[in-house]
Amino acid sequence: MKTLVLSANEPNTAQIASDILKNGGLVAIPTETVYGLAANGLDEMAVAEIFAVKGRPQDNPLILHLWGAEQIDQFCHHIPQTAYDLAARFWPGPLTMVLPAKDCVPKRTTGGLSTVAVRCPDHALTREIIRLAGVPLAAPSANLSGKPSTTTAQHVLDDHDGKIPLIVDGGNCRVGVESTIVDLTEERPRLLRPGGISPEALMEVLGDLVVDKAVTAQIDKDAVVKAPGMKYRHYAPAEPVVIVSGSREKAAAYIHRHYVPGDRVLCFEEELPLYAGCDPLSYGQEANVDTLSAGLFAALRELDDPSVHQVYARCPVGGGVAYAVQNRLKKAAAFHIVDAEVEE
Ligand code: AMP
Ligand code: MG
Repeated sequence: MKTLVLSANEPNTAQIASDILKNGGLVAIPTETVYGLAANGLDEMAVAEIFAVKGRPQDNPLILHLWGAEQIDQFCHHIPQTAYDLAARFWPGPLTMVLPAKDCVPKRTTGGLSTVAVRCPDHALTREIIRLAGVPLAAPSANLSGKPSTTTAQHVLDDHDGKIPLIVDGGNCRVGVESTIVDLTEERPRLLRPGGISPEALMEVLGDLVVDKAVTAQIDKDAVVKAPGMKYRHYAPAEPVVIVSGSREKAAAYIHRHYVPGDRVLCFEEELPLYAGCDPLSYGQEANVDTLSAGLFAALRELDDPSVHQVYARCPVGGGVAYAVQNRLKKAAAFHIVDAEVEE
């Protein structure tokens, strides 16, 4: 199969993409978070193809992408008022809500669950594609399962050239990490995955939020969890990643003591001069955390190279979108963190 790459700016792109989707085909779509590998979320065969192309475990559910909050009722029931409040505040945007699923949503899409995850992406062309297709799009991140997510059309091409008919090129993803996921099916709202909408912003609407343990710790692969998918090895380059926490100077001293040729350092732009001779790669500016979220996956993909032995990574501190960056980096590092303030 020849994989076509069409710019989001071409006048016919939305029509061509939606025609493929209506016919059960796959299209890689740009969103503000990461590129998605989309199919008609109500078509079991099309959804099965997503799992096959990505190599995704069958119990890892997909997010249904809607073109507006008015579609929630078509696919969900027992919808609490908080869902409408969150949609009014954050949609279109990087927030996914887990709600009880109506029977029209195939179990293949929900990974066998009775709940479904829904979101409305903040990307004009992609919403136009959804509207023209007339169906919700199931769309996980477009990377091969286990690889860092895709934030450019080239990343998608690197993983799927010849395996899907169309990639819509919308440039670099603005947020760069996947959506925040909040589960609204229990008594208390539960954060399943941090993302572009911060826990602080959610709290302003919800007044209450439980943070699921999948966010803060390594989950056993056989565990039964609220956030399937979070238990799988994720976001990681091929080689081990170690997060080095602590002050700039202490971290640099630690890394210089342990560095051997073949290692790489993933750091903030401001730190590049500290790592001369250690093959450093910056993923953004510490002073501007949005650049870190936008740059993280491209950097992790660059480091996903068999010639690299080990990666020492610097991680931002604090809340907001830094919380999502911490989560992705910790998962990439399998929660392996050394504190340069105390460790030799
Ligand atoms: P991805 O689209 O690759 O970022 O992955 C989507 C993630 O959303 C999954 O890995 C799950 O963690 C989460 N998810 C999707 N549907 C549900 C659901 N019904 N209940 C809980 N988590 C879900
Ligand atoms: Mg993913």
